[in-house]
Amino acid sequence: MVEYLKQHGIIKSREVAEVMEAIDRGLFVPAGCPPYVDRPVQIGYNATISAPHMHASCLELLEKQLLPGMSALDVGSGTGYLTACFALMVGPQGHVVGVEHIPELVTSSVENIKKSSAASLSKEGSLSIHVADGRLGWPELAPCDAIHVGAAAPEIPQPLIDQLKPGGRMVIPVGTVFQNLKVVDKKLDGSVSVRNEICVWYVPFTSRATQLHDY
Ligand code: SAH
Repeated sequence: MVEYLKQHGIIKSREVAEVMEAIDRGLFVPAGCPPYVDRPVQIGYNATISAPHMHASCLELLEKQLLPGMSALDVGSGTGYLTACFALMVGPQGHVVGVEHIPELVTSSVENIKKSSAASLSKEGSLSIHVADGRLGWPELAPCDAIHVGAAAPEIPQPLIDQLKPGGRMVIPVGTVFQNLKVVDKKLDGSVSVRNEICVWYVPFTSRATQLHDY
């Protein structure tokens, strides 16, 4: 899988290749589903684990904000795959928080991480996952170097912009029918720039009731 992503120019950096080799996607995909094929997989509760090329693209975009000792927030952490990757990249001196509003997914993501090479980071406390509405971010971790949002918002929630550190970066899919993966950079003077990276298709960033209404 990592070789394929490298050949297609999606993985460019050694750090991203290494972390995606180290965190086995097979531990995060429900049993019976092909873990290493480049497509999203249903994980229940109207949610999916993103395709490997999306995980790789987000890791590439956030690489400079995931250096050892930095802090990262994974909003809509789902299976916990990217949360685990972030934790491995920032290491034991860093801090990573996952926020997910489906309690069952939080429980299974914690179990997935326990089986992965990020297990010790979870045990020692540099990685934690919480049940909460991610649209409010996680103020206790703020300000964060990196924020990743794994579900598409109608617009960028202000609390997430506020919780970004100067020099920090957020990657967030935005849109309803047509979605763009937006890269939000907070400069050292506090000003914010936003650019579109690629067109994407994510599940909505919404309330728990709306997400589960037909489930
Ligand atoms: N990066 C995750 C993506 C999971 S899909 C992975 O690859 O496993 C998006 C996730 O966002 C779902 O698990 C969904 O339950 C969650 N989500 C949607 N709206 C949310 C909200 N308001 N607060 C927290 N989590 C949310």
